[in-house]
Amino acid sequence: MNISFLDNFLLWHWALLLVGLWLFALWLSSRYKNRYKKRHLRFSNDYFQGLNYLLNDEQDKALEIFLQLVEVDWKTIDTGLALGNIFRRKGEIDKAIKLHHDLLSRPSLPVEYKSRILLELGRDYHLAGWLDRAEGLFNDISKDEIHACDALYYLMDIYQKEQEWRAAIDAGWQYQKLCKKDVRPVIAQFHCSLSEHQLKQNNLKEAEALATQALSIDAACVRASILLGEIAMLDRQYQKAIDVLQQVEQQNNVFLPLIIDRLAECYRQKSDLKELIGFLRNAENRSDKLDLASALAKLIHEAYGKTPALEYLSARMLVNPTLDGMNTLLDLKNPDDESTYNYMPQIVKNLLKKQPSYQCHKCGYAANTHYWLCPGCQTWSGMRPRIINNKSGLMYE
Ligand SMILES: [Zn+2]
Repeated sequence: MNISFLDNFLLWHWALLLVGLWLFALWLSSRYKNRYKKRHLRFSNDYFQGLNYLLNDEQDKALEIFLQLVEVDWKTIDTGLALGNIFRRKGEIDKAIKLHHDLLSRPSLPVEYKSRILLELGRDYHLAGWLDRAEGLFNDISKDEIHACDALYYLMDIYQKEQEWRAAIDAGWQYQKLCKKDVRPVIAQFHCSLSEHQLKQNNLKEAEALATQALSIDAACVRASILLGEIAMLDRQYQKAIDVLQQVEQQNNVFLPLIIDRLAECYRQKSDLKELIGFLRNAENRSDKLDLASALAKLIHEAYGKTPALEYLSARMLVNPTLDGMNTLLDLKNPDDESTYNYMPQIVKNLLKKQPSYQCHKCGYAANTHYWLCPGCQTWSGMRPRIINNKSGLMYE
């Protein structure tokens, strides 16, 4: 069948119309792409300008830009939050708080970012020392699935600072269960703090129950064993006290110097000081770090007399001289002995004063008073007695 002129004309007509539509569509899409490119380019330029301000330490200008950017795309919030971190680190907490309040007050804030900003605001309050406000925020955030671990960690710290030990224990167990981190040694310390409080009130039964609980939570808790020893001593159960105090050797023998005086008191009550000397000598032999020469010499002096003590300590000082040992040696020597220069004891005492009795093995904080919670880095059991490591020459474990 032949195609008529009219049919031909219509076919061409339709073809032209289709090509026209296709061209129009192409033009539209390229126009949109150009617009997007321009907008995107402006967005990137602003972003890099903001970064540039940050690098040049012009945080306030950077803040202005990032607050505008976040309105366009909330995904840029990481940069805004990093800025909050910088303010916090520089101690400009008021600026950090203002930034986080500003972000929280925006109607366009997507729900998924809300608890993240609240967490940052909680950290601001925590650092500023507004613990009540921080506590309220972290309590709310601890119910949020994603940020619960961070919130519980801060709650533990806040309750510890406020010495609200019961609340600290609750937050600690939640953290332990939810976040798969072992904080049992810290929870045991919270129980010890409660036990100490009861001991001060002379509630021996409650104090004993709490220290026993601490030991069941963390079998290596030296503080709990010392507390149980003290409670037994107050109850005049000296053998029981000796048994719990001597556990410290297995728990962590660097803390042995902390219990020697208490043990000596128990053995004196049993008139059995020689047995303590045997125990300490064995403990020293079982370790390659412990040096108890000075303490042993004092006990030998008490149990056997001055001459054996002097002989023992002089022999030890010839092999491993230590300031503590020299000090005890000078104390043991007869003050009338002309062979000792008069000023020697004072020199050693002055040298000893320069060496604090306790030091934190984590941060190096040193003091002459023992704290279970290091004032320097807030580590439990961080501070340890001065002991001499004969082999490596380390002063503190
Ligand atoms: Zn420390």
